[in-house]
Amino acid sequence: MNSRKQTRPGIWLNCVWFLIVVMLIFVSVPGRSASQSAKAQSVAADFEVQKLAEGVYAVIRNKPPGLMVDANNVFIINDDDVIVVDSNGAPAITREVLAALRKLTSKPVRYVINTHYHDDHIRGNQVYRDAFPTVEFIAHEFAHEYLPDQGAVNRKSFLEGAPRFAEQMREMLGKNKNFFDAGITEEERTTFNSDLRLIDLVLSEGAQAQTVLPTVTIKDRLTLYRGNRIIDIRHLGSGHTAADIVVHLPKEGIVVTGDLVVWPVPLVGDPQSHIGEWVSTLERLSYLRPSMIVPGHGPVLRDDSYLKLMAELFTYIKQQAEAAVSRGESLEQARKSISLVEFRKKFVGESPVGRLSFGSYVVGPALAVAYREASMKR
Ligand SMILES: [Zn+2]
Repeated sequence: MNSRKQTRPGIWLNCVWFLIVVMLIFVSVPGRSASQSAKAQSVAADFEVQKLAEGVYAVIRNKPPGLMVDANNVFIINDDDVIVVDSNGAPAITREVLAALRKLTSKPVRYVINTHYHDDHIRGNQVYRDAFPTVEFIAHEFAHEYLPDQGAVNRKSFLEGAPRFAEQMREMLGKNKNFFDAGITEEERTTFNSDLRLIDLVLSEGAQAQTVLPTVTIKDRLTLYRGNRIIDIRHLGSGHTAADIVVHLPKEGIVVTGDLVVWPVPLVGDPQSHIGEWVSTLERLSYLRPSMIVPGHGPVLRDDSYLKLMAELFTYIKQQAEAAVSRGESLEQARKSISLVEFRKKFVGESPVGRLSFGSYVVGPALAVAYREASMKR
């Protein structure tokens, strides 16, 4: 089977949305109908615009890293135009990001680069299309294949599942309980409230949000030149998805990674992610020698220590899964024999929200993907 093919059946999970699906499957909280009581609120205070270099700005989300996240963005302001990297999970959010851009420049947006096809990076595209009639959308060719097909299925399942998930969170907050029926911590309360605001905002426009497909696709590389600036768009290999691209500004020493790099825990999707190949993709990313790394989610990273930690984690998972398969273990047996506790401590310590994220975004899906990759090798 071609592992890059984006139409493989199974439990398709959609990046930030997938934890919700995981929760709905594995946490047996009684379902309730969606609450319509909460109103979507402005998210302008939820991001910060940081200048990275002359004409280059990162839009960094500052909500606590929780179960729902929205994408970082980057503005590259050139002599005559602007290039934006990634849109957001809802047009309402992207309108606020565009308003922030407008405070910096009145130049038109010429290109929007979508680092991959997940909704939290692409759903606000329509805002740029409506504001700039000549704008082009650049993404990997697999994104063009995925979005109208499996992407539409995943979006529908998110829109159907998220209200129930939000209702469960509200119930837990009301009862001072967490997902596992233990007392809720202050960190969990803050995070869940923040998650709920984002879910409400996404759902408020959910059914109406349009899919804007890439108008330019790349397979390996596309380089744009703007005055003295070089904007090198690269597919360095698969990792988070087979459609991952990074945006490299070699003169500024900046690389924008999308969800190839996510802080504080990597986002692994089963079956969309590629554990074995992710390690070599991260290695190629390190070869670019960036002094600033803008991850898909999380703060700007100023060295490659986090890339190394991610690579160590995935190498370990790959090796352990191969050993488990060679011992003849089932996936369930492998889950018992492989411990990622020491890695979890390195990524998130003992934070309850961090433990939940690491379990849901790493342990669950990464072991399944690595086990399958190891089985296919034999
Ligand atoms: Zn993603």
